[in-house]
Amino acid sequence: MKNDRLLEDIKSRVDIFDLVSGYVQLKKAGQNWKGLCPFHGEKTPSFTVNQSKQIFHCFGCGAGGDVFAFVMKYDNVSFNEALRTLARKAGIALPDGNIDRRAVLRDEKIRDVLVEAADYFRDQLRKSSRALEYLGRRGISAESTENFKIGYAPAGWSNLLRHLRGRGVNEKEITEAGLAVVGGKGTYDMFRDRTMFPIMNMSGGVIAFGGRAFDDAQPKYINSPETPVFRKSETLFGLYNAKESIRRGNMVLLTEGYLDVIVCHQFGFANAVAPLGTALTQSHVQKIRTLAGRVVLMFDGDAAGRSAAKRAVSLICQSNLKASVLILPDGEDPDSYLTS
Ligand SMILES: [Zn+2]
Repeated sequence: MKNDRLLEDIKSRVDIFDLVSGYVQLKKAGQNWKGLCPFHGEKTPSFTVNQSKQIFHCFGCGAGGDVFAFVMKYDNVSFNEALRTLARKAGIALPDGNIDRRAVLRDEKIRDVLVEAADYFRDQLRKSSRALEYLGRRGISAESTENFKIGYAPAGWSNLLRHLRGRGVNEKEITEAGLAVVGGKGTYDMFRDRTMFPIMNMSGGVIAFGGRAFDDAQPKYINSPETPVFRKSETLFGLYNAKESIRRGNMVLLTEGYLDVIVCHQFGFANAVAPLGTALTQSHVQKIRTLAGRVVLMFDGDAAGRSAAKRAVSLICQSNLKASVLILPDGEDPDSYLTS
């Protein structure tokens, strides 16, 4: 059951312009605000925000609605979850009865499990001198560790499983969240003895993890599998932390890896993001172009980095964005370049 008064209360405190401009660059156009639609690819803005009516509408794809509709569509979440996000923004505590527990969707459960896991990994990091020492060696400050919620998945096959089970989460839910794998001998932890980088959506909610092995252990990176809340080809690492800076400067700094992003932020380039170990996709570009008009690519100086940059530039230019490429000296990546 939805409480109409509560919804009105939230709407009166969360202005649609403030909300949407966190995701889309808006310019004044008459009575309205206009920008590039985040829901379909377009080159001229047909996405509008009407502040007096507190609604958005896209003349291109027909998407429209209030603040709730925007969050549901942008973050791909249920109504209940949009309600939670917006109540938090509005500083309103949700009465427990407001969310019908039986109607809590699988997606919300998955997100809850991911938050639990992120907390667990952070807790484990504090206890692991090896992981802390590793981050120190990579030049990651305590502040960055905090900002990016970096954690550690301990060695062993069932640490996280045991922890989550102890909190009433069942195996199926843990597997659905992409945190465990079902094998011949039973279910086991997906991430073992790895530094953990939570991957967040635009609202700062954890939707997946990237896990990096220590030193030369292989595979170097493992990402969460795709789940109902995580689509790899649409997600950029660091975008939540970077979106303010991107919007302010009208520019995105595109790097290749998690550590590149974190180190760039640490050195004042707070507009750095990276795809998740994949090539840049059309969906990534679409996310970027609603926030900024210019992309600077900062890729490795090696042959692979150069060819990745070339492919990315052609995709970016097709979308009418300005692109520049920053080539680092051979053998350097942004991480090594900044920290050396
Ligand atoms: Zn549209």
